[in-house]
Amino acid sequence: MIYILTGGPATGKGTRANILAEALNIPHIATGDMLRKVALKNAEIREKLQKGELISDDVITHLLEERIKEDDCKNGFVLDGYPRTYRQAELLDEILQKQGRKITKVMELVIPDELAFRRILERKKCGYCGAMYGIDFPPKVEDVCDKCGGHLTVRTDDTKETLAKRIETYRKNSRKILDFYKEKGLLLTVDASSNPESVVEDAKV
Ligand SMILES: [Zn+2]
Repeated sequence: MIYILTGGPATGKGTRANILAEALNIPHIATGDMLRKVALKNAEIREKLQKGELISDDVITHLLEERIKEDDCKNGFVLDGYPRTYRQAELLDEILQKQGRKITKVMELVIPDELAFRRILERKKCGYCGAMYGIDFPPKVEDVCDKCGGHLTVRTDDTKETLAKRIETYRKNSRKILDFYKEKGLLLTVDASSNPESVVEDAKV
């Protein structure tokens, strides 16, 4: 069981990847988390992350190759944040082939742009305890934190323009990768507007 979850900003990839991994009792591998973990022991990676430098496709794939050899991945895993480039998609095929494994499904999460805007631009944070709220998980009382009663304020680094650009960049970068999986008959497009739990049903082959 090897699943790849992909999707643009605010599609809730991480949440769905977690739900799916838990339901199937396999690990959720988010490559960002994996890199941060490796960086604790690997000075070269640590330095690159600290400087905000890009980790090359070959290096990140090598780390992933080692990660999926671990015992907890023997029944499969859910990937989130990888492949991010066409080269990574090709490399992933190579390492899986070496291990005699195959991708089960690639799930592309899709939401209307308007929902992505609302999910990100209307995100609010408690000024006191830092709890986050959004349109999918609003506080019980408007602008009041459920946990501590603190005041909530809009919290985002994005504007409508930067967000539109991020969505466009995702579409441009992902097209070739998605076509690659479509040709292999692995791609499933999923409506990610609501009910994250539906990912478990969608994942069934
Ligand atoms: Zn609070």
